[in-house]
Amino acid sequence: MTSIYWYDNAFLPEEEVRISPHDRGYNFGDGIYEVFRVYGGNLFEAEAHFERLRLSAAGLKLALPWGLDGLRAAMIELVERNELKEGIVYLQITRGTAPRNHLFPAGAAPVALAYTREVARPVQAMEQGIPVVTLEDIRWLHCNYKTLNLLANVLAKQEAADRGAADAVLHRGGIVTESSASNVMIVKDGVLLTHPPDNLILHGITRAVTLRLARVAEIPSDERPFTLDELYAADEAFVTGTTVEITPIVAVDGRKVGSGEPGPITLRLQREFAAAIGR
Ligand code: PMP
Repeated sequence: MTSIYWYDNAFLPEEEVRISPHDRGYNFGDGIYEVFRVYGGNLFEAEAHFERLRLSAAGLKLALPWGLDGLRAAMIELVERNELKEGIVYLQITRGTAPRNHLFPAGAAPVALAYTREVARPVQAMEQGIPVVTLEDIRWLHCNYKTLNLLANVLAKQEAADRGAADAVLHRGGIVTESSASNVMIVKDGVLLTHPPDNLILHGITRAVTLRLARVAEIPSDERPFTLDELYAADEAFVTGTTVEITPIVAVDGRKVGSGEPGPITLRLQREFAAAIGR
């Protein structure tokens, strides 16, 4: 089946999408994006994703002429047209097309592009866990905006892969922020710890869902910065994200986390998450 894209306010086949060489997303990474999870044909946590998109747009002083309701209607129609049951929707919005100049272009309309992709839940990684390496977080100071500028994340993920790991956990001067593409949580003495939602991390939707599930399950949690040493000494660790859901970290820089197996609180939260998405 041809894949239908939403581009420049129209639904069309991928082959008909024409990105301008002067699109500011292409030239400057001047834009924002969201990745929505689709379970059973429905956008998971749609409200929270659109609210984060609104905050990212405000942070970049980027207009959203469709309105959040217009964007939501388009994303729902896109899922329907592609008959997507299990996968993701990728939506990006750039500041538009204009002759290359750092200044915001006067009168350029933002350009939106969205497509769907079938993606299975990462069952093997969720069961077995993943090894990670730690790297200095060299990103800018607005990591709470979900921008197209992912170069530092790309370099970190590649370095992790080159070193035989599945992801890179980032730290600023020894304080763990997040991973290249997900949030990081640890468990120590029964308490769940994760970086506070400030400008140094993306405020992950899965992070928020996980903290909510922990509260319901009466697992104590604390949104406070923790150090690399606390990560090394953690009883359990895991990442959270739209596509990785809750994936255990079983090794950090070649050292086992806890027993080296996914821990009991991680497994409990995975079960609660599965229930929340109807599995
Ligand atoms: N941090 C970063 C840097 C991310 O790219 C992502 C998204 N993959 C996350 C955290 C997790 O956010 P979410 O749960 O909303 O997918």
